[in-house]
Amino acid sequence: MVPLPACRLLLGTLLGPGGCRRLPRHHAPAALLSSGAGDQAEAEKPGRATAMLRHLLLKLRATGPVTVAEYMREALTNPGQGYYTRGGGIGESGDFVTSPEISQVFGELIGVWYISEWMAMGRPKAFQLVELGPGRGTLTDDILRVFNQLASLLSKCDVSVHLVEVSPKLSETQALMLTGGKVQSNPKDESAYMKGISKTGIPIFWYRDIQDVPPGYSFYLAHEFFDALPIHKFQRTEKGWREVLVDIDPEVPDQLRFVLSPSSTPATENFIQPEETRDHVEVCPEAGVIIQRLACHIEKDGGAALVADYGHDGTKTDTFRGFQNHELHDVLRAPGTADLTADVDFSYLRKMTQGRTATLGPIKQREFLKNMGIDLRLQVLLQNSGDTATQEQLLHSYDMLMNPKKMGDCFNFFALLPHHRLIHPDTKHKPESKSPLPPVAGFGELLLK
Ligand code: SAH
Repeated sequence: MVPLPACRLLLGTLLGPGGCRRLPRHHAPAALLSSGAGDQAEAEKPGRATAMLRHLLLKLRATGPVTVAEYMREALTNPGQGYYTRGGGIGESGDFVTSPEISQVFGELIGVWYISEWMAMGRPKAFQLVELGPGRGTLTDDILRVFNQLASLLSKCDVSVHLVEVSPKLSETQALMLTGGKVQSNPKDESAYMKGISKTGIPIFWYRDIQDVPPGYSFYLAHEFFDALPIHKFQRTEKGWREVLVDIDPEVPDQLRFVLSPSSTPATENFIQPEETRDHVEVCPEAGVIIQRLACHIEKDGGAALVADYGHDGTKTDTFRGFQNHELHDVLRAPGTADLTADVDFSYLRKMTQGRTATLGPIKQREFLKNMGIDLRLQVLLQNSGDTATQEQLLHSYDMLMNPKKMGDCFNFFALLPHHRLIHPDTKHKPESKSPLPPVAGFGELLLK
């Protein structure tokens, strides 16, 4: 029997009832890459330092320069004044727009991907959907709608959702989006800090750290998550590798500047490979630790991980950027009021799986979505939409996601899968005795007949 990609069948089921959940929203084209922050008023008044800047200045005066990773961690997730802690600026009225915020189709196709993998892996009796950094909760909401539409398939499967989110503000937004706000804080006997039931009846749990998520067969999702994790930056000099640090500018009051460490730092010793040919390198050890954890869990308990982000395969150099109000923003100015981000190094993620899982990708977003059947889904939505304004919005959001000059080329999909998902364990010995494994949706062409 020649296996058909399950997603072809799933897409067929979705084609029927699928109407518009909401109007895809217009947004500023400058939002292509990523983002920056909410309340700028305080920061942007000339001569006025933000609470975060004042905190950093005190810290730097007391202890000297800090690594870029430490600076980024403070600016984004400091428990008091971090950019994400205060709610971040995701969406049209904020600093950056992400794919799930642009079009419902994006999350729907990701939902199809998970069901397709669940079927290909023999329909286990239960699975956890674990999303890292869920933002406003839009992506999970779209995925859960697909799970609901395909309820007949999932009826015997025990599905639960586990969200890893450090920001209390964003977890409130997610709770509102996913449960209508009906949640229980600090539930007893749970490692979660909050729990609730989705509008479609699925239990949802919130955690601060991936380590708190209970073990079990899990499908992981990280969309624009890894790019928000702190990076170390290194510069090749005549005297060898030096780490880039953040310090106070002695010339300008209340201003920060980059300096180079006078000698190599522990991070330089650990993270620069002897065969490195670039002159400037960024490394995100936290991403490495998390990927290692996901790979261990997938190897032990089964499942898969889908990572989508902008990034490269170990080739780029200086990608550290700030975004505010859909514009590029000086990373050292008004910390805590802008999103800080760096391209994900997929070659590093692959290396950090340490061979515990197989990896697929990175492949470009437009290829992945095309393989997942985005064109078909668009056609159905266009046919079902009554007015030209909605149709224009649908075409506009399709263009944002797919156009190589917009999000189509700079965003990538990357997956971790158990080895047995790609190669039969005993293929070497009895290749003829096994039927071929179903292809992994999205990473190969979708066969539509
Ligand atoms: N996935 C969403 C949001 C991306 S923004 C989307 O694509 O729309 C990054 C998200 O990661 C935010 O929800 C932010 O609060 C969260 N985040 C950032 N650093 C984190 C960390 N160290 N641990 C958990 N969540 C984090």
